[in-house]
Amino acid sequence: MHIAVIGAGLSGLMAANELHRAHHTVTVFDKGRGVGGRLATRRIDTAVLDHGAQFFTVRSPQFAEHVDAWLQEGVVHEWCQGFGEHDGHSRYVGSQGMAAIAKHLATSLDVRVNCTAVSVLPSPSGVEITFDDGTTHSCDAVVVTSPIPQTVALLAQSVIELPQQLHSLEYDCTLGLLAVLNSSSHNIPAPGGVQNPDDTFSFIGDNLAKGISPMPALTFHAHPHWSRQHFEHELEHIQDLLIHAAQPWLGSADVISSQAKKWRYATPQQPWAEPFWKAPHAPVFLAGDAFAGPKIEGAALSGLAVAQALMSA
Ligand SMILES: Cc1cc2nc3c(=O)[nH]c(=O)nc-3n(C[C@H](O)[C@H](O)[C@H](O)COP(=O)(O)OP(=O)(O)OC[C@H]3O[C@@H](n4cnc5c(N)ncnc54)[C@H](O)[C@@H]3O)c2cc1C
Repeated sequence: MHIAVIGAGLSGLMAANELHRAHHTVTVFDKGRGVGGRLATRRIDTAVLDHGAQFFTVRSPQFAEHVDAWLQEGVVHEWCQGFGEHDGHSRYVGSQGMAAIAKHLATSLDVRVNCTAVSVLPSPSGVEITFDDGTTHSCDAVVVTSPIPQTVALLAQSVIELPQQLHSLEYDCTLGLLAVLNSSSHNIPAPGGVQNPDDTFSFIGDNLAKGISPMPALTFHAHPHWSRQHFEHELEHIQDLLIHAAQPWLGSADVISSQAKKWRYATPQQPWAEPFWKAPHAPVFLAGDAFAGPKIEGAALSGLAVAQALMSA
């Protein structure tokens, strides 16, 4: 089959790899400049900072199989077994940042970036996708992995109706600060990450301690309620507020360079119970972390499940 995947985040790339390995012809489209979606790593000067997902855990044997291969290939490494207390569950990170996991998965795929899909329409022979530059792509089936509100917009002109729970699925947003420091902060306890340290931040990650940055660089993520309250403010204003809130965590270090980041669709609030959804009368499949759970593992399992469904169709 000719299968299109919309979204080169973890879910789309896992699905595309499985389908490619089963000899289907797969084309992946993403509106971003690169692959990864919420697996995102940014360079500021020589510093390297993860600004989306910070780490991941593994609970299912199915995901463990893939992670074991990534460990052997040096794509990921174990960061720690918990923040504060060790709970025996490994926290893994991309060895060159989380986006490197996506780059690794994309290696043998036909991935087209800077391609924003604007509509997905069932056609007599399958599906037709239209992009914002007016071009179209015809395929036998499509896997759409964008966050659900974006998927709803993509399907607006089609006859496909999503179940009400999916249609109205809401996401928590996240505001983040990337801060490059002139020296290490000694206020972030080993292993270089703290969860829910105060009223502003849900996570602070030390990218040097995590082993991805050659120089001191911290990632700050704000709580959903703080993020919601400030989301529509100018980015510059948000950056000032976050730098101010970050001060107690910097110790004697100074911020020498920083960026703020808005994640509008960071975390789905009530994920769908099944690992993917198929339109009743069209070869249109929805997948992503809104299905198998709002984390890296959920996104991966959703991608694997939708590929399995397509292969046995
Ligand atoms: C700030 C933050 C921190 C997080 N921290 C963690 C963590 O520590 N651990 C953890 O396990 N999880 C974490 N997560 C969640 C994790 O990142 C996600 O669950 C996972 O990456 C989602 O993958 P996905 O493939 O489902 O979606 P995405 O990664 O969002 O991929 C969807 C892709 O679709 C593309 N797209 C959207 N619309 C279109 C369109 N019209 N045309 C073409 N392409 C389109 C997007 O560009 C994107 O690349 C975090 C998320 C955020 C935002």
